[in-house]
Amino acid sequence: MTVRTRVAPSPTGDPHVGTAYIALFNRAFARSQGGQFILRIEDTDQKRGSSESEQRIFESLKWLGLDWDEGPDLGGPFGSYRQSERKDIYFEHAQKLVDAGHAFTCFCSPGRLDEVRKAQRDAGETTRYDGHCVGLSAEQVGLRIADGESHVTRMKVPATGVCKFTDILRGEIEIPWQQIDMQVLVKADGMPTYHLAVVVDDHLMEITHVLRGEEWINSFPKHQLLYQYFGWEMPLHCHLPLLRNPDKSKLSKRKNPTSISYFQRAGYLAEALVNYLSLMGWSMPDEREIFSQEEFISEFKLERISLGAPVFDLEKLSWLSGQYVRGMSEDEFMSSIQKWALNRENLSRIVPLIQERTEKLSEIIPQVDYLLGDRAPLSLESFQHKKLDQDMHLKILQFLLWEFEKKVQFESEELLEICKIWADHLGLKIRDLLFPLFLAVSGKTVSLPLFDSIVILGVDLTRMRIRDALSVLGGVSKKKLKRLEKEYAVFSSV
Ligand code: GLU
Repeated sequence: MTVRTRVAPSPTGDPHVGTAYIALFNRAFARSQGGQFILRIEDTDQKRGSSESEQRIFESLKWLGLDWDEGPDLGGPFGSYRQSERKDIYFEHAQKLVDAGHAFTCFCSPGRLDEVRKAQRDAGETTRYDGHCVGLSAEQVGLRIADGESHVTRMKVPATGVCKFTDILRGEIEIPWQQIDMQVLVKADGMPTYHLAVVVDDHLMEITHVLRGEEWINSFPKHQLLYQYFGWEMPLHCHLPLLRNPDKSKLSKRKNPTSISYFQRAGYLAEALVNYLSLMGWSMPDEREIFSQEEFISEFKLERISLGAPVFDLEKLSWLSGQYVRGMSEDEFMSSIQKWALNRENLSRIVPLIQERTEKLSEIIPQVDYLLGDRAPLSLESFQHKKLDQDMHLKILQFLLWEFEKKVQFESEELLEICKIWADHLGLKIRDLLFPLFLAVSGKTVSLPLFDSIVILGVDLTRMRIRDALSVLGGVSKKKLKRLEKEYAVFSSV
């Protein structure tokens, strides 16, 4: 048997370090067994997915050196590797389940489903579909579909009993069927849900081992049942421990940078980040912490993965990056610096901003310091302003952060538009509104044009700097956050 593993990111938002971590372990396992590692793009959520995000996934994984054997860009014998291009395949498979009586068409409106869930919650029961449409005859279903009624396809699940399954690392797991919902398999827009697509694709792409995040354990019963319904053999499953913030909560962008491009822009070495991620839930037999991917692959054994919650610690990562820097020859170091930012491509974005403002070339570095390196640290005093108090600074930055979190890419005009709208909502002059943003982004009150700077810095660094400025301003308590959320919602719906 050839081992085949895959990573299956959804192209939404920034490429996450969690994706790199899962890719890394799947790739190492496949390579250690002489097998293949596949990249599949799970883009069935058409509202959230975007092709820019997909591009960024490719670029980020390539930057980390995590190459794949088959994928949307490379092709391969089991394509397409992009789920949105496999709609007919899922539809056909869902139909087979309906014909065999394992799935049914459901016409329940969102309103009805809400009521059912509310009643179940009030009665202290697990919220799940109540089976309202299970008994409809094929004829009734046909008529209603012909009538143009909106519908979904749901899978049937046993009402009682316990689902037992085995995870390679965790052993036997049991989940009562009562906790499992009659999952929607095909949505009203004709797109499959994750649950149908993942089973169909893993089978058709001949995946032998699924190494995925532990957040998917509770979905396992549905997946196991679908394999049974189709009469297919199920790949082996292994649920990897989730990466954690230092406070042990699930790694989140509110507490830590999580986007791979952030680490690239901030100048961490790719080798160090990959090495660091390999230490998440794993240790070498001789406990050494610095090793290459080749060494990782040659020692890799699934049984060596530990289930403890691995903490993603920026200080440790910086230390490791320093070890890599010091281990380089001067020539290699020079190449890394060039590749990172001091190259024609990057400079060509900065040059139009500085040319007009420069007399002597030695004036360049102070102008661009915050574009290449970290901006100067801020203090509360930096925010002294004759019209804006601390609360207003917090509000402006939090609202703009929420606006910026909706974006995967920035355009200068669009940023100006957003800021104008918010200045208007808050009754401020645009100059005043931009004051805390200038500081957050550049660490100065005067800098190169702000929006062009933000475009050059990119979404990740910009957001990180705003988050940092928010914490310098005392942070946003839970209570304050609730208030701001309300105010933000009122304004943004205007
Ligand atoms: N699209 C899912 C995710 O992004 C994939 C989960 C899986 O590996 O099955 O987490």
